[in-house]
Amino acid sequence: MNTNTPKVITKSDPARISIAWADGQSSSYSAAELRRICPCAHCVDELTGRKLLDPKTVPQDLLHRQVRLVGRYALRIEFSDGHQTGLYQFDFLRSHAPVDSAPTSGGTSQDQ
Ligand SMILES: [Zn+2]
Repeated sequence: MNTNTPKVITKSDPARISIAWADGQSSSYSAAELRRICPCAHCVDELTGRKLLDPKTVPQDLLHRQVRLVGRYALRIEFSDGHQTGLYQFDFLRSHAPVDSAPTSGGTSQDQ
């Protein structure tokens, strides 16, 4: 079984999305953070991987309006700025988990 599978996705706070992973770890992302790492073709050049989105243009108080599961592999997030083209694959989310949001014990999760 893939450990990069969410068991529980918490989105009751419109400014945060928290994911409890199948292996017991959990990650919490602010909506602004997720918007800044949006992997869609408008935000990242698909050929070069160059970021097209200026992170400074994303307000810190951005909210998510809708979070939908796409198959068993990704989330589609609609943000309060109207952006909704990003597909956040679970592997991607896992590898972009914020470092400072792991209040649980253990400290080796950053090393893959
Ligand atoms: Zn995007």
